[in-house]
This record gives sequence, C-alpha cells and structure tokens, in this order.
Amino acid sequence: MSELLLSASQLTKRFGGLAAVNEVSVDLFRDRIHAVIGPNGAGKSTLTNLLSGDLPPTSGQIRLGQTDIAGKSPERISRLGLGRSYQKTNIFLPFTVWDNVRLAAQSVERHAPWNPAHWLSKARKNPAINQRCERALELAGLTLRAHTVAGNASHGEQRQLEIAMTLATEPSVLLLDEPLAGMGQAEAESMIELLQKLKKDHAMMLVEHDMDAVFALADQLTVMVNGQVIATGTPAEVRADANVQAAYLGE
Ligand code: ADP
Ligand code: MG
Repeated sequence: MSELLLSASQLTKRFGGLAAVNEVSVDLFRDRIHAVIGPNGAGKSTLTNLLSGDLPPTSGQIRLGQTDIAGKSPERISRLGLGRSYQKTNIFLPFTVWDNVRLAAQSVERHAPWNPAHWLSKARKNPAINQRCERALELAGLTLRAHTVAGNASHGEQRQLEIAMTLATEPSVLLLDEPLAGMGQAEAESMIELLQKLKKDHAMMLVEHDMDAVFALADQLTVMVNGQVIATGTPAEVRADANVQAAYLGE
C-alpha cells in the first residue's frame, strides 16, 4: 500500500446558490496519479483551488500529511509541501526561465512581501535555492532553455516551466490543472513522459481533458459532473461504468 499524502473528505464549495463542488472526497497517494475528468463547469478547477488554498471550502476536511489545511492560505499550504500549476499560466513573461523558477523557489522561503527584484537577488545568493532550481529545470527538461526569456519560449516549454516552478518548491503533492491544454501531438507526448517521470516520489492530481493522456497515466480516475462525483475507481472500472458512458464519455 503506498503512502496517503493528501486526503480530502466531503468538500463543498458554494458560490451563492451554486454548489460548484458538492461533497467531494479524494485521496492522493505517493507514486500514483489520480486523474479528475468531467465536462466544462464540472468543478474540477474549483476542487483544485480548494486543495491548494486558493479558495476556502464552504465545508469539508483536507489533510496534507498530518496537518489539517482546509482554509489555510496558499502560501502556508505550499510550504507544507503542496505544489500546483494553474490552468491559466502564472509565468512572468519578461523574465528568463531560470528567474521564473528562482522566484517560485524563493516563494516558499520565510514569508516576505512580493518584490521580484529583491527575491531574485536573495535567490541568486542562496546555494540551496540554486540547487533546487537546477534540479527542477533538469527534471522538467528545461536545462538548455534556462536563459531563454519566458515570453520567447514555446507554448509547450511554458507549460514545462510551470511544472519546473512547481517542482522548485519541492512539493510532495502536485496538483496539475490541464497541463496538456493547447498542445500539439509532439508537445503532448513529451508532457506525458514528464508526468510519468514525476509520478515517482510524488502524489499527483491531474485535471485533464485529453482522454488518451488520462488513460495512459492515471492509476485512479474520478469523474465529476455538476460539482458531484459520479464515478471513481481504476480507469478500467470507470470506463465500464454505465453512468459515465451516458453522462460523459459518450461511448
Ligand atoms: P471546471 O474546471 O470543471 O471547468 P470550474 O471549477 O471552473 O469547472 O467551475 C465550476 C462551476 O463553478 C461553474 O459553474 C463556474 O461558473 C462556477 N464558478 C467557478 N468559479 C467561480 C467563482 N469564483 N464565482 C462564482 N462561480 C464560480
Ligand atoms: Mg477548469
């Protein structure tokens, strides 16, 4: 049995009258990828935001390791070992790939007000941070592009950079929101290879529309529709579920 790193139970998020996430439970284990699929508006990004602290849940519990993190700030949660990427990119386009990763690495150091120039100068002088950044760039396959200005990097490289930035915080749990969005075939294939590599030593929740990628990568699969989980299990179990076929996969 692999190690349970994050456990969320009965999470609900209401926006006025709308339950965007309705009594959703999800467990993330080390060395496993848990994919979350569902049509637009199903609540996948909201669920990600609840786990990362970007939104406080209306109700429910979230444990990261031994710590109850529900309602804690994203900065606290990030320092406790949860890393996330965003569906919309979080990259500073005028900065180099290296500096973007440095800023991400510096963000989990002792809290200081956001000041990119100051953070970068601190990060550059810190050998431990430089080492963390080098490892993150290497793992994400960006070592040769480190000195490229992020705005000049390809779409695929920018998505890799997002992941490198997340890795620079040395997370045990990774939440990735549509890392394959907008990618061509070759870019998607190299991203799938990267995610496969990241599975080792991490627990991962992968929100993704690309079903080929999901079925290639996922150990566990949860299907959401209208804020609710309609099925969860291994990919084979979910594929065989009549509700899922009717509601979503359309097979
Ligand atoms: P998905 O990522 O699965 O496409 P979302 O989590 O983005 O779905 O959205 C789920 C539902 O919650 C949608 O109906 C969306 O319009 C609504 N929603 C998301 N964020 C907010 C918000 N900040 N305020 C109000 N409604 C929101
Ligand atoms: Mg979304």
